[in-house]
Amino acid sequence: MPDIPGTQKYQGESGRTRASDRAARRFAPLPAEFTFTVDVEEHGATGRAAAATRRLLDLLERAGARGTFFVLDDVVRQDAGLVREVARRGHEVASHGQGHLHLADQGPAAFRAGTLAARDRLADLLGMAPQGYRAPYFSLTPRAAWAPAILAEAGFAYSSSLLPAWSPLAGWPGAPRQPFLWPGGVLELPVPVGRVGPLRLPFLGGMYLRWLPPWRLSTLVRSWAAENRGGHLWSYCHPYDLDAGEGLVRRADAGLAGSVMLWLNRGPTMPRLEGLLRGRRSEPFAARLPALRAAAAAWQPQDAPGALRAAPAA
Ligand SMILES: [Zn+2]
Repeated sequence: MPDIPGTQKYQGESGRTRASDRAARRFAPLPAEFTFTVDVEEHGATGRAAAATRRLLDLLERAGARGTFFVLDDVVRQDAGLVREVARRGHEVASHGQGHLHLADQGPAAFRAGTLAARDRLADLLGMAPQGYRAPYFSLTPRAAWAPAILAEAGFAYSSSLLPAWSPLAGWPGAPRQPFLWPGGVLELPVPVGRVGPLRLPFLGGMYLRWLPPWRLSTLVRSWAAENRGGHLWSYCHPYDLDAGEGLVRRADAGLAGSVMLWLNRGPTMPRLEGLLRGRRSEPFAARLPALRAAAAAWQPQDAPGALRAAPAA
């Protein structure tokens, strides 16, 4: 088969491919232990996420890996069977909240109500409350500095909701790049970022993993490894990132150019994820919490006053 992104949507699942071999070599500088995470949400038509999520479950099973799945409340309501299957197959089920809006646009009252409702629905379904929460778009920014206190109140042990750099979508420049504790006690696990010139990019997931050219991905891998020796690593993806059969979906939150970017180039996702899992051990965040918490330092948002001045808390 020709090695053309988009034409090999099932190749990567039958075993090693040249693309996944190359990806594995590119990821070699990264640590042997990490956490594979998924944000389970629909992209366009309801129902497509389930099939792609099951392909990810199969991928993890073949690799003998366990991960953390942050499930959006809409999916929990529409497909309880899928959520139960994720748990049954050995993975941690955590919450991606209710509604897929930037936290600052939700505001504290709606965020509190939606987060509690999403938590309760998952708790009823699985018989235990989720320990983890992830914000849409990593939108725990200075404009949503009220969110960690609400997560503490809701009983969440950890959050992986923050991009510790400037970003055109959502970021918190100046926040720590390794796990830290919010004043209310919630552990934050910032998305791993690599450095390219003045930018820091969340290279190990989503659009970045799909679009970054191989040489650029290698640069980011090496820069993360050099700056975060002994640090915790995690990856992220969405079911649609590997759904090469889906047509263009015009997303109100992305504009036309963004919608096209989200649509194209889904072929590289599977081989790259497969390469990442090769020779590496993934455990859910929940299984690593004691060690992550023990290594985390406390951090106060005013430790990054420049970031707060740039965008006052809502
Ligand atoms: Zn999401």
